Amino acid sequence: MTLNLNAPAKINLSLDVLGRRDDGYHNLEMVMQTIGLCDNICLETRTDGQILVRCSHPQVPADEENIAYKAASLLKELSGNMHLGASITITKNIPVAAGLGGGSADAAAVLKGLNFLWGLKLSPGELARAGLQLGADVPFCLMGGTALARGIGELLTPLPPPQLFWVVLLKPREGVSTADVYKRYNPAFVRSRPNNEALIAALAAGSKDDITKAMANVLESVTFSLLPILGHLKQQALEYGAFASQMTGSGPTIFALAADSRRAAAIYNGLKNQVDFAYITTFKEVP
Ligand code: ATP
Repeated sequence: MTLNLNAPAKINLSLDVLGRRDDGYHNLEMVMQTIGLCDNICLETRTDGQILVRCSHPQVPADEENIAYKAASLLKELSGNMHLGASITITKNIPVAAGLGGGSADAAAVLKGLNFLWGLKLSPGELARAGLQLGADVPFCLMGGTALARGIGELLTPLPPPQLFWVVLLKPREGVSTADVYKRYNPAFVRSRPNNEALIAALAAGSKDDITKAMANVLESVTFSLLPILGHLKQQALEYGAFASQMTGSGPTIFALAADSRRAAAIYNGLKNQVDFAYITTFKEVP
């Protein structure tokens, strides 16, 4: 049996670091939004008990190190049936190590897809617990849509679908390491914190001005000093007509929000030559 799935990326409409935990992770509070940029995952059941991954992206391993392989193997372990197998073919469209949650999206699609194909009937809660073992963003990717995420990302409150704004993604060639960004994070250098309560209310009301005022990503204080081009991209996106522009996750992707396709195209056309990857999409609701 074969199943083809879209694995959509996410952006952080807000990201606040509330403190460091004893286990080295940080307690976060963030509003996450699924967008229309997707990897494609093709799943095919196998009867020989093997899990195989195909992925031709140069920065993505096509073996046991791939998070999609780890997702399949964890699910197989939970099923207790060692005869279950799958071939997983990943077509990467989401830039890698970009703050767009591409690996987490792939893992979530594999968990959902194989739960169905293998007939396991794990509940959404059981899948979310399995997902958290693979990565902090996997539970959100399983849920999709719009949500407030707390803890390391696993305490999720679904939010009503907001207006489907246009999103322009801008990723420079240079990368950053997520671990390094968190290590360098110092609240003393944060210039703007999100107001998540106000952001949730503004999204529900569809008020662009209030959304803009309430959004912030405290990790910009670290990544913008490592990659100054990000501050310029953010500023220019606003000049080209975005009503808000911000970094997603620990970066380095900057996203711009636009009210209509004309403004989105102006931002894209104005900035695409300065970056390695530019893409126009929209917010995506849960199907
Ligand atoms: P997040 O926003 O959740 O921190 P990210 O978008 O910054 O994630 P990913 O694209 O998920 O980062 O990838 C991070 C690392 O994981 C890369 O070094 C990559 O080699 C490895 N990796 C393993 N499996 C995958 C996969 N299926 N897709 C992308 N990267 C993968």
